Amino acid sequence: MDLVQKEHDRLLKRLKASHGLKNVESTIDLLQSARDTIAADPNQAAVTLAKLQNPVKSSFDSINDSLKETHGGLNKYTKSLDKLFKDRPLPSTEHDALSNQEHLINRAIAMHLLREGQFSVAATFLSEIADQKSTIQQESISRPSEKPSSLLDIDEVPSTEIRKQFASMYYILHELKEKRNLLPAIEWSREHREALAARGSNLEFELCRLQYVWLYHNKSLEPTNSPGNWEAAIEYARREFSSFGPRYLAEIQKLSGAMAFIANLRGSPYAATFNNPTAWDEVSQSFTREFCSLLGLSADSPLYIAATAGVIALPTLLKLQTIMKAKRTEWTTENELPVEIPLPPSYLFHSIFVCPVSKEQATDENPPMMMPCGHVIAEESLKRLSKGGRFKCPYCPNESHFKDARKIFL
Ligand SMILES: [Zn+2]
Repeated sequence: MDLVQKEHDRLLKRLKASHGLKNVESTIDLLQSARDTIAADPNQAAVTLAKLQNPVKSSFDSINDSLKETHGGLNKYTKSLDKLFKDRPLPSTEHDALSNQEHLINRAIAMHLLREGQFSVAATFLSEIADQKSTIQQESISRPSEKPSSLLDIDEVPSTEIRKQFASMYYILHELKEKRNLLPAIEWSREHREALAARGSNLEFELCRLQYVWLYHNKSLEPTNSPGNWEAAIEYARREFSSFGPRYLAEIQKLSGAMAFIANLRGSPYAATFNNPTAWDEVSQSFTREFCSLLGLSADSPLYIAATAGVIALPTLLKLQTIMKAKRTEWTTENELPVEIPLPPSYLFHSIFVCPVSKEQATDENPPMMMPCGHVIAEESLKRLSKGGRFKCPYCPNESHFKDARKIFL
């Protein structure tokens, strides 16, 4: 694997250093200016063309050189890949449940492209699907016995509205990440304040807190040792923080209190808030998550999650195939893997909770409830035990009251 990584890095480095694109651009510039000269004065044509010959030839040569280099690099990379995956075919696709679900796969790909902000690629992809669809339809007209082709209802899903939404999401993210401009994101979170509050989101406050820190640091990318612009920060706090009300009072007090340590903020208890190198990534992630969830989508593209989980599973599946071949056994259950694939915690969805008292699985009607001591049981068990009043926790000596228990969201 190291070899592949090395070749990949080398290829990337070479591509970055390559002047191929620049050469193409300068050739185009040369040709265009020659065209303009000739258009302005046709008598100059012969001279202009003669002058053009040498520079165009030399830039063609250098384009070819850099192409050669790129091809060489690609070859080496392919070879190292072949070496690594030699004689190891992919696991059998006999039980491929998705092979007859082309429209679902197309939809996932189109949505993924839109979510990644690749709007023009998505548009090309969708138009090619539409072409394919009309070809199939034409064929089925000539053969009337066949039913119309599978319904590729893909153009309905990434509707214009969704495209617009993603375009605005990428605009806001671009401002946030590239220009360190929090204002469009703050504006968006204010427009959706109610929906965000219903989700229990802190996004607006997180954005405004970063804006405060950003103003304090004199809008600099790296926190410097020079004293910050606390007037600008305080002015911002006075203007904006009052709208946050009591929910964030403690946080706001901390932010204002930090100004007392202005001489040595780095050595103060507030250092983490003011020198957080991942703060911008964190708010970008929160923003993406909230934006997608208001659209009814998960923060990560399902295609990305599925592909990553598949790659994690590959070694186990390869091993399984070898064992099955050696023992000549068959994979009998069609929709279930015969082995467990360990996935990272972030890939475990649909967490379930089983009440330790009733041994029943929690549902929306019977959600898990946490008592002040930290133990969790299902709501029905809680009602039965407490009878609506004070009761002793079944797992520790602590006593609590029915109304002190909090619902838990898994
Ligand atoms: Zn307890």
